[in-house]
Amino acid sequence: SEDILRVHGLSTRYFTDDGQVNAVSDLDVRIEQGEVFGIVGESGSGKSVTARSIMGLIESPGRITDGEIWYRDANLAEAVRDDQPDAVDGDQVDLQQLPEGIRRSLRGTSFSMIFQDPESSFNPSLTVGEQLAEAVEVQRRASANPRSTKARTRGSAYSLTNYALSTVLPSRKYVSESSRERAVELLELVGIPDPVERAEEYPHEYSGGMLQRAMIAQALAGEPDVLVADEPTTALDVTIQAQILDLLDELQTQTEMTILLITHNLGVIARMCDRVGVMYAGEIVERGTLEDIFDDHVHPYTRGLLGSIPDIERAGQRLQPIPGNVPSLLDHEMANRCYFADRCPKAMEACLSHPPELDVDDEHHAVRCVLAETEYEESRAVPDEYFEDDG
Ligand code: SF4
Ligand code: MG
Repeated sequence: SEDILRVHGLSTRYFTDDGQVNAVSDLDVRIEQGEVFGIVGESGSGKSVTARSIMGLIESPGRITDGEIWYRDANLAEAVRDDQPDAVDGDQVDLQQLPEGIRRSLRGTSFSMIFQDPESSFNPSLTVGEQLAEAVEVQRRASANPRSTKARTRGSAYSLTNYALSTVLPSRKYVSESSRERAVELLELVGIPDPVERAEEYPHEYSGGMLQRAMIAQALAGEPDVLVADEPTTALDVTIQAQILDLLDELQTQTEMTILLITHNLGVIARMCDRVGVMYAGEIVERGTLEDIFDDHVHPYTRGLLGSIPDIERAGQRLQPIPGNVPSLLDHEMANRCYFADRCPKAMEACLSHPPELDVDDEHHAVRCVLAETEYEESRAVPDEYFEDDG
């Protein structure tokens, strides 16, 4: 399948009073149209920053300092080509080279994001139905506007300037009846019972699981190509978690949208994903298919995460604790070495003298470790005892 997103050399830094934090470094990921791509890692590994970087949602003191984010969209490419030829490669556009106005107009329509905390996505003083209807209205008006991003799906090309002008602001006064009806349909789509009645309720009247469903409905209002889900079930109890994952799975199958799923939970990865990137200290240390990661992993960190879990079927709910801590990402503490060396049972001289490159084994499988080339087999012989939780 074709790649819908191709992230190359992405680095995101935070410029804090304590120094420069290298939250994401030199990240390479490509995501195929219609797949569920997972990013897994401990907290502080750069997963959320990666998601926000792709969405164009990094805020000061953070900044994307390097890299390209190629998004496949033939009509967008057509529209941008004349004004910014460097930002176009065939039917792909480098989002990093687009002005913020265009980037913004892609959010909600081409890319949507859902978060761990649905409350942050809703205004407590408006009913859920009103807010969904507004989201629908914004997208519809964008589609009706011939200069808008959505209009490009009709095959017309528009100038870059017009793109930037096309961002439509929501205005409650003009929410149409059909948008209200669509809002109810969306609630129904995400499995909210009695959607007509529930549309009239306020966010606080919803349970956590229901509000999570409503947030997914909101994200779907603009029929996005890519849904970025950052720990979408972490705050929910296990039963509700499973229901929300079933829902995402179902919606993904129905709509063929692409999902980038961020989680610390290997069970969620095993349940949902086609391919996975394992992040450590702001870097992808290993990526591949589910089988590559669960059954044929090479990186000692991946091995550590999996701990006693030998296969996909037995993937646990939590990451296995690995002795030691994720290193500080402050620039001055980032030595010229493998960032996992302090915790790695296989660390050797070479690991301390230079940082390992991401070694691409085949089309999917890549590993950032000196073992990738030289000691592939031996790397699997890390003794199990090393990874046991010593409490
Ligand atoms: Fe361990 Fe060395 Fe590989 Fe880093 S490069 S994970 S320290 S073996
Ligand atoms: Mg996070």
